[in-house]
Amino acid sequence: MNKGIPGIETLDPRDKTVILRVDFNVPQDKATGEISDNSRIIKTLPTLTTLLERGASLVLITHFGRPKDQNDTKYSTAIITAETEKLLGKPVRHIPWCKPEELPKSVGKLTPGTIVMLENIRFYPEETSDNEKERKKFAEKLAKLGDLFVNDAFGACHRAHASIKELAEIMPSYAGHLLKKEVMILGSALTNPKRPLTAIIGGSKISTKLAVLQNLLSKVDNIIIGGGMAYTFVKSKGLPIGNSMVENEFLSQAFQVIEKADYLKKKVYIPEDHVISTDFSDKGKIKTCGLSIPDGWMGMDIGPKTIKNYEKVIKNSGTIIWNGPMGVFEMKAFAKGTNAIAKAVSKIDGVSIVGGGDSMAAVNQAGVEDKITHISTGGGATLEFLEGKKLPGVMAIIKHHEDEP
Ligand code: AMP
Repeated sequence: MNKGIPGIETLDPRDKTVILRVDFNVPQDKATGEISDNSRIIKTLPTLTTLLERGASLVLITHFGRPKDQNDTKYSTAIITAETEKLLGKPVRHIPWCKPEELPKSVGKLTPGTIVMLENIRFYPEETSDNEKERKKFAEKLAKLGDLFVNDAFGACHRAHASIKELAEIMPSYAGHLLKKEVMILGSALTNPKRPLTAIIGGSKISTKLAVLQNLLSKVDNIIIGGGMAYTFVKSKGLPIGNSMVENEFLSQAFQVIEKADYLKKKVYIPEDHVISTDFSDKGKIKTCGLSIPDGWMGMDIGPKTIKNYEKVIKNSGTIIWNGPMGVFEMKAFAKGTNAIAKAVSKIDGVSIVGGGDSMAAVNQAGVEDKITHISTGGGATLEFLEGKKLPGVMAIIKHHEDEP
């Protein structure tokens, strides 16, 4: 990915129809079904605007939730179409579900400046099929809807789905502004960072973060560990952790991370004190303790000494990559550690990158989102990128341009 991903900076889409894959998989209010956060749409608007200003017409494609089939109407993109229209200030026509072969007729010939949005692409089982041939056949039908393909759906790029991978393989394809920004910022943080580079990794389970830790170990200068996964590290050093969250089957792997870091002369920081509770709620007894956690208590957040130490490491960093909360931050009594880290990250002079829904929520909760260099829109995609995996959606576009001078 060193050459970068070809974007739309110099693309001339005049009088062309661009199939634009976006990630408008917005969260919905559970009670009303209304869109509760439209930031994914807002972040993609610059790509829509650029293409429209240059005389293109657009066919927007997105997934939305995990629908069973086309009758799962609570996942219809009709509400997303209306929200896009509102935010863009231009009409967007919703294309109701029809068979893939009927799509060209349904969409019709588009004049420059016209925008349509297809029904939820996951209403078509071919989109997510395990069978590559089936996906390719479906992508060939989608390709009839336009002349060019632009992907701006970073959050879906780790999926080998028809509208992400195969469509990019069979059409002239480019990255939208958001996808390009994600790949460039995350890529340069890993390959050419302002040092020291510090990764802050938290969240509940070490099992879901082990690959990231292993890949980052050779690239970073410091790793700061927090959240439920920290107790597997604490226990792997032979210390008591009471009833704290632990994955016993990962004890040796946690210890190996610490040993390998020592060997590579990297620093791994694990909590040296904790906020502990008798219950997994804020209704039980709560206190702070040192490195060891007594029986009958569980670790819920990093303690004040740890916060101070972590703040120091963060302050001296040139680049920060943060994924996962430091404690059970959804409960106010255990949100202090995560909030303090969010504030510390927002104050650094260098580059700060935050990924994952919970860390994003923590940054919002602390009111510092404007001071973060880059808040990544991908959850799984960001993690897989940090794990060093090649994302199918990104690779398909790069391959397409490989022979260009
Ligand atoms: P993840 O999705 O793996 O990033 O984990 C995020 C979740 O980890 C959040 O819902 C937190 O409440 C949870 N978490 C953080 N710290 C702890 C802890 N000490 N014990 C249990 N869960 C935790």
